[in-house]
Amino acid sequence: MHSIDHLSPLREVIVKYGLQAKKTLGQNFLFDLNLTQKISQAAGITSEDTVIEIGPGPGGLTRALLKTNALKVIAVEIDARAIAALEEIKQVENQRLSIIQGDALTINLADLVSAPRKIVANLPYNIATPLLIMWLKQADAFKSMTLMFQKEVAERITAQPGSKSYGRLSVMCQAQATCKRVFDLHPSAFIPPPKITSTVVHFIPHTPVVESNLYQHLEIVTKFAFGQRRKMLRSSLKGLNVDINDLLDKAQINGSQRAEELSLQNFLTLAKIYQEFKVDNNL
Ligand code: SAM
Repeated sequence: MHSIDHLSPLREVIVKYGLQAKKTLGQNFLFDLNLTQKISQAAGITSEDTVIEIGPGPGGLTRALLKTNALKVIAVEIDARAIAALEEIKQVENQRLSIIQGDALTINLADLVSAPRKIVANLPYNIATPLLIMWLKQADAFKSMTLMFQKEVAERITAQPGSKSYGRLSVMCQAQATCKRVFDLHPSAFIPPPKITSTVVHFIPHTPVVESNLYQHLEIVTKFAFGQRRKMLRSSLKGLNVDINDLLDKAQINGSQRAEELSLQNFLTLAKIYQEFKVDNNL
């Protein structure tokens, strides 16, 4: 048996440290060892990898991650009550576990430890998308990300052109990584149960990722294109303040199409030509 298996059951940990779930911190805890193991397995952790876990809470997933042969696990948690609970795990895994109290939205994860790094997290729903966008901007810092989202957000991340869920998030994610939905979790898997079904998504960043200046232009182009997704592109892209007909011609895109019809490659081409227009015109 692993030393982790001798720790108190998570339900007792919750009581001992007064870790009653706070809605404001997006706390929905996982106690089911099969599920925490399944998430950990989806991350495909090897003995070279340092795993960064965001929001370990009472530490169910943290325990599963420590049962892999990960080189190290760094757990970043904002809630002081959880930090106290995690100290118990540290007593049996002192060498491999580091606990950092802080706000994941303000921490540059690449500064914490050298590569290869993998992020694994059951994310707080209220900040899951902003965290994802932040990490995608530096996607080459991570070997993979295995993250849990509301099912509806996971569908948007992996959606293909022409589908209802296809939008800005699909393009921004798929430009940087291969994104695969791994499995769903029913609300009853969590304490307390959320109102929605959750989905684990596995991201493997492309090598190379999109260069950062081009990625910024992709952000702008998709903002306008999907901002008014029912409109034709020649109208929705007006806010870019360049010659739209020229832009669309050079990108070989028909201006009467709508954003949801464009492929990832179409958007990357649009962003590249938009970037060139801005350089040419000193905009
Ligand atoms: N990993 C645990 C599990 O699976 O049972 C808890 C997951 S719970 C959905 C989200 C966790 O993120 C909570 O422990 C919460 O305190 C933490 N959290 C919320 N906001 C955070 C932030 N800004 N930075 C770091 N952790 C945060």
